[in-house]
Amino acid sequence: MNPKDALHQFFGFDSFRGSQAAIIDRVLGGGHALVIMPTGAGKSLCYQIPALIPCDDEQSQRPAVTLVLSPLIALMKDQVDALRARGIEATYINSSLSREERVRRYSEVAEGRYRLLYVTPERFRKPEFREVIGRRHVRLLAVDEAHCISEWGHDFRPDYSRLIEIRELLGQPTTIALTATATPDVQTDIVRQLGLRPDEIELFHEGIERPNLRLDVQEVWGDDEKLEHIVAVHGRHSASTGSGIVYFTLIRTLERFSELLRQRRVPHVCYHGDLERNDRRRIQNEFMQGHCPLVLATPAFGMGIDKEDIRFVLHAEIPGSMEAWYQEIGRAGRDGLPSDCLLLYDEADLTTQMEFIRWSNPDTDFYHRVYDLVAHDHERATAFGLDWLREQLHAKQKHDHRLETVLGMLERYGVIEGTWEDESLQIEVLSELPDELLDRNRLAIKLRHDQEKLLALVRLIRHDGNRMAFIHEYFGQGRKLATSIERP
Ligand code: ADP
Ligand code: MG
Repeated sequence: MNPKDALHQFFGFDSFRGSQAAIIDRVLGGGHALVIMPTGAGKSLCYQIPALIPCDDEQSQRPAVTLVLSPLIALMKDQVDALRARGIEATYINSSLSREERVRRYSEVAEGRYRLLYVTPERFRKPEFREVIGRRHVRLLAVDEAHCISEWGHDFRPDYSRLIEIRELLGQPTTIALTATATPDVQTDIVRQLGLRPDEIELFHEGIERPNLRLDVQEVWGDDEKLEHIVAVHGRHSASTGSGIVYFTLIRTLERFSELLRQRRVPHVCYHGDLERNDRRRIQNEFMQGHCPLVLATPAFGMGIDKEDIRFVLHAEIPGSMEAWYQEIGRAGRDGLPSDCLLLYDEADLTTQMEFIRWSNPDTDFYHRVYDLVAHDHERATAFGLDWLREQLHAKQKHDHRLETVLGMLERYGVIEGTWEDESLQIEVLSELPDELLDRNRLAIKLRHDQEKLLALVRLIRHDGNRMAFIHEYFGQGRKLATSIERP
């Protein structure tokens, strides 16, 4: 069976799109690939097809499997269900499964079942999983949403930075990394974090353009002008069967606009991180089923939103970076039909994002203080949890997430191990603070990077010329992989 046969047989499609065929050839030949393609362009087939092509060493003692790393637990089930509906042996293992089910899947994987296995990188923390996957020959490692690898990216996941170790454990498998958005320095960082040299991996940059999205920005002053824009865009699409999202940075602002829209009798639902988990799930499900055409949301809404007919994505407050904005508008128009993406810019909103950036970049002093508490006051810290820690740190302001940031970094660098959720803290301290975390120069560069990502968006708003060209330039379209980026 060749790739084209597999495409017909399993997916019922006539031909490959764009560079899919070239990418599949590359990985089947054992070459590594970094794939940048817009959302909805078809990144999944680039690893699903190779997973289905029989390979020589399938006769070897360890049966072959394609391992897919994805940060999105919410999407794994859907993706696997879709594959199974096509008769493909695929499964996932994550924390959403019951213990029994997880154990069952572990033993199935160990016995050689499944051609595709989806897990989060966190799974590699479990010795049982490491043992089980060790019995398989990972013929292809697919790293989906690969921008999460980079600390310089907008959606950094600490566990994604263990990829060198993960690849080593798997015997340096052929690797394909895929994302819709990565700037040139994030691309370079992805390659580095995979433990590869730039000349070992081929970049397939299909661009980031979505021709059916109409991008527009408007400078506005105050709530009234924003409200008029929201009402107008919503009105323009009210005849369509699709839905729309209005993004806000602050829950406070979201609630204010919810009230204003209610007065205007514009039906909508609200989604944000302060809602109960069950309410969030319910609203998300209702949205997916098309029962609520308009949702006011914070960026918490989106992971796992894979609805085809989102007709508009409007930002009522400036998002934190060009990447975050591009990722969020990427949810519009997956069915290929015209969709509106409008960014409302009120200069006053910039302050909020600048503050967010400050909170996500704690200084060395703060690192020391957190470390002292969790290492030397360990008993109280674990007994009383995050809220107590925040009190000790005088870090109780609403958007001050420095504590979470520091814990994440400590874990990433192997200083601590454990979990912290819903105010409880269960960790062990394994080592001293490494110099790298306390490097003022490095922290300063990280801060500047974050500020630049936000300023790029402001520059785009102010840009008189071709905005699409500006965005292409930002995401390095048409450029080769750089061999170095500025890092301390
Ligand atoms: P991405 O991960 O890039 O956002 P997906 O891999 O989820 O996109 O694919 C988006 C949609 O495009 C899917 O419904 C998929 O079946 C479809 N698709 C992908 N490649 C092809 C193709 N060659 N022919 C027809 N449909 C395709
Ligand atoms: Mg995808």
